[in-house]
Amino acid sequence: MTKPAEKKFKSQDRTSLAGHKREGKLLKPPFVQFGVGKGLVSWMNDRLPEMVWAALLIAALGRSAALCSFREFLRFIAERPDRELFWDGTLTGFANLDLDKRNDLIGVLCGSEETRQALAPLLWFDGLPARVAWQQMLQNHKSDRAEILLMEAVRMTLFHQTQEATDCRWVRLMCGVFGRRIVMRSEELLQLNGYPKFGDQRTVRPSIRAAEGMMDCGQERDPTWSRAFWLECWEKTPCMTRVPLESDHDPDDGRSTVIAPLSDIRRQLERHWENTHPTTAVEAKHDAVFGMTFYAVRVMEEALSLADGRTVLGRLAIRILLEIRITLRHLLEENKPELWRSWRAYGVGQAKLSSLKLDQLPGSPPHYLDADNLTKIANEDLWEELVAVDLGHWTRADLRKLSEKVGLKDLYDRYYGWTSAYGHAHWGAVRESIYATCLNPLHRGHRFPVCEKPPPLPAVKEDLRVLLNAILSELDSAYPAFDSRIGNSA
Ligand SMILES: [Zn+2]
Repeated sequence: MTKPAEKKFKSQDRTSLAGHKREGKLLKPPFVQFGVGKGLVSWMNDRLPEMVWAALLIAALGRSAALCSFREFLRFIAERPDRELFWDGTLTGFANLDLDKRNDLIGVLCGSEETRQALAPLLWFDGLPARVAWQQMLQNHKSDRAEILLMEAVRMTLFHQTQEATDCRWVRLMCGVFGRRIVMRSEELLQLNGYPKFGDQRTVRPSIRAAEGMMDCGQERDPTWSRAFWLECWEKTPCMTRVPLESDHDPDDGRSTVIAPLSDIRRQLERHWENTHPTTAVEAKHDAVFGMTFYAVRVMEEALSLADGRTVLGRLAIRILLEIRITLRHLLEENKPELWRSWRAYGVGQAKLSSLKLDQLPGSPPHYLDADNLTKIANEDLWEELVAVDLGHWTRADLRKLSEKVGLKDLYDRYYGWTSAYGHAHWGAVRESIYATCLNPLHRGHRFPVCEKPPPLPAVKEDLRVLLNAILSELDSAYPAFDSRIGNSA
């Protein structure tokens, strides 16, 4: 039976982690291992603007009529005695032809009223290569739908593997073939010639894309037009975004559903603490188990009190509860007095270190910490002159190793990576929480910051609930009996 995770990878056509090759600290996917991606110009950024004439024909005439006009255009090339000159099917390639040849070629493309209508939006661009020739051949056709048609054409071809993008890439490739720039075996040629009807399209389409992509290998391309294209699109059209739904901003009220049960749990924990608190001497284990559990409750309460935890801080809360969950499991599994003491001593050492560093700081101390309180914590159990400061992790192992040791690696894998990205403000987290994708296809999916009312991030309530309940179970096992848990849809 296939495991769900494997199934998912397969259907999404991705390389699983196991398919990556490890080199030092880098995991390289197969394409990177083989050096693909180095120095290739991109379809979206560089070649789509060059082939937008073909995309416009598809958008305006529909696919089958567009394919007919592609064939007519290719026949024109194939039948020319000087066909070698016509190998470059891009707008810049057209502009590089001598005047009469350029006019012949553009004349073929603009041969009917329908194609003139379809290609008229090209004149929307001031930077269009050979603009004068296009103007003449389009007979100054004005298109009042230029923007809409361009958006539609670009939308259909923006992603390099769509059917429409493949059509555009096919016509470019065939120009290269008929212009004798590309040499192919005759059976391949037969298949390409019969596109999209001949042969198994599941293999024909990828081979067209691969061959078209390779046309630029080792070629210097003039980027003037492709840059001008995207610049004009950006300057002349507005950003577009989905109007936020009311439900985006009014998630169900966390207060009534989880905050209240959390307060109940806290009160019950307080009673249980009293009932199990044996002495006023230092009781490292009791302090640690209850302390970490109360800490988890506080973090969860705070995280859910703003926008139901669908915030950046909500993710940090998960990270903190994960750390508590794994640490507590480790401490309870070992359950040695010296380990409880060393966990505590490590924390005391941290307070001492922070407090000493504070003394060395020039200027006034930061506002977030209370210097007297730190000194108090540093001296509470033992006079601080006897407190060693440990600069490493308190178990001399990181959280991943600890999670493996206590059998919680699954939990670690579920919660560690992405929440840490938030803690470190890595690009992935910044991208998810700050930027939205512009929906104007002419802006090629660029990102813009959504700051005033940022859309809520995925909910954390359920994950926090699961983590907290597991922490409560640990407490229950150490100090029975504590049965209260946060309910499922509570
Ligand atoms: Zn935009």
